[in-house]
Amino acid sequence: MSTTSIAAILIGIAAVFWLASAYWTVKDARRRIDDSALLVLAAVVGLVPYLGPLVYMLFRPPEYLEDVRERELEIKAMEDRLSRRGLVCPVCRADVDPGFLVCPICTTKLRQACANCRAPLEALWQVCPYCETPIDATAAGVYSPPPWHSSGR
Ligand SMILES: [Zn+2]
Ligand SMILES: [Zn+2]
Repeated sequence: MSTTSIAAILIGIAAVFWLASAYWTVKDARRRIDDSALLVLAAVVGLVPYLGPLVYMLFRPPEYLEDVRERELEIKAMEDRLSRRGLVCPVCRADVDPGFLVCPICTTKLRQACANCRAPLEALWQVCPYCETPIDATAAGVYSPPPWHSSGR
């Protein structure tokens, strides 16, 4: 084998390695970078023979985009769980639904129901948002006897 053919083989190997590393850089950048301008920059850097991919590896984002997305979903799910756990019975700490009128475990009254449509009402509401029935504030609290029962006369 002559020296020139050995040189040709070496150059061929070097060229293949260069193209492979440039291809790897672009492929890796697409999994990590969302910005198209930065992707082009990564591809240009990756095309610099041998040094490019090394420089790219020093500056590339540490995480894959799909990992970032997965983590964001996980955090969101955790927040949902936490906000749902916030709804508990004030007496027995059992999980309760926002629509519950009483606690199913200890039967503590949680909410007043609308007199007309029986929808669960918030404590501060002045009117039922479902059927426009005004909410009688006294109905929620202490039982007050109707005036015709008062033994005055
Ligand atoms: Zn309870
Ligand atoms: Zn109502």
